[in-house]
Amino acid sequence: MRPDQPADPQTCRSAGVSAHSADEKDWEAAKAFFDNLKTKKPRPPKPRFAVTIAVSSRTLFNMVHEREIYEKEGMEKYVLYQVEHENEPLKPGAAFPFVKALMNVNSRLRDFYPDSEELFDIVLMTNNHAQVGVRLINSINYYDLTIERFCMTGGKSPIGYLKAYMTNLYLSKDAQKVTEAIEEGIAAATMFMPDTENELSDTQLRVAFDGDAVLFSDESEVIVKQHGLDTFFEHEKKFENKPLAQGPLKCFLEALGKLQRKFYVKNERINCPIRTFLVTARSAASSGARVLKTLRSWGLEIDEALFLAGAPKGPLLQKIKPHIYFDDQMFHIEGAKELGTISAHVPYGIGQKYHRGKLIEQPAKAE
Ligand SMILES: [Mg+2]
Repeated sequence: MRPDQPADPQTCRSAGVSAHSADEKDWEAAKAFFDNLKTKKPRPPKPRFAVTIAVSSRTLFNMVHEREIYEKEGMEKYVLYQVEHENEPLKPGAAFPFVKALMNVNSRLRDFYPDSEELFDIVLMTNNHAQVGVRLINSINYYDLTIERFCMTGGKSPIGYLKAYMTNLYLSKDAQKVTEAIEEGIAAATMFMPDTENELSDTQLRVAFDGDAVLFSDESEVIVKQHGLDTFFEHEKKFENKPLAQGPLKCFLEALGKLQRKFYVKNERINCPIRTFLVTARSAASSGARVLKTLRSWGLEIDEALFLAGAPKGPLLQKIKPHIYFDDQMFHIEGAKELGTISAHVPYGIGQKYHRGKLIEQPAKAE
């Protein structure tokens, strides 16, 4: 663990902490080297200032066909295929529109703050063979994506790298790796391609979050599952003024809020290129106050809070058109992606042991 990272994985990292001096020297040397290159390309920000988003190659690009070759014909055939097709760009994957939207926010931030390093930094995290790297780089250049940092982990767990880059959000197709990341206190989710395609905003990044077991801990969800809705309503009324504990995605909402405020101080609240949504199955009257008061106690804002009182989330998400929607329950993910929402499963909390209210033996596998 880096000396400037908090010891408690459930605590959000602080962007303003003083860095280790050797680390600082390394960054100064890297900056001097980069400045000498006289390039017009923006320099990647330092991880401790940036909001770092790590994406796997299979979430950034659609590699379903390639994966099939790997599974049916083995590694050698797979690598050979990738090399033979390396000048053919890969098709966009589930995280692609999200990454594009992050880049749009960065360009707006650079207009207002040309020298600031408080930007999104996108890191490609892949355990692909080095030979496949050429096709990935070619595809990144083809779509003009600003992804300078590559982590080719060679089959090793990405957790160490995620920590070294002070990752604020990790997106993968591998539910096992996502679960490991969450256990280490890193916000993470397993991404799914939607079944149909919705047109998304190209001027505003839209991020939608479920509440319980995503932004908040699963403490209230446990009561629903074990004692039913009526006990839950009573419980939430009784503890209305006691903030919920934080869930795995709280720190990412906080990071978005930090960047949103940079627009607000420039009087750009109306035109802010980041918009956040809470989409919860809770009902407003009986259990909504506690979540709003919890957010307030954290000093966090959410732009729109939607209390569905048990109604399906899919149709509403279809209207919101988020670039990414996080939920801990697979049946919400399934409903959302059926109606064209790019969805990301957060494998956390008691919900993993249930499907549509029924207890299941094994945690729901995301793939
Ligand atoms: Mg939930």
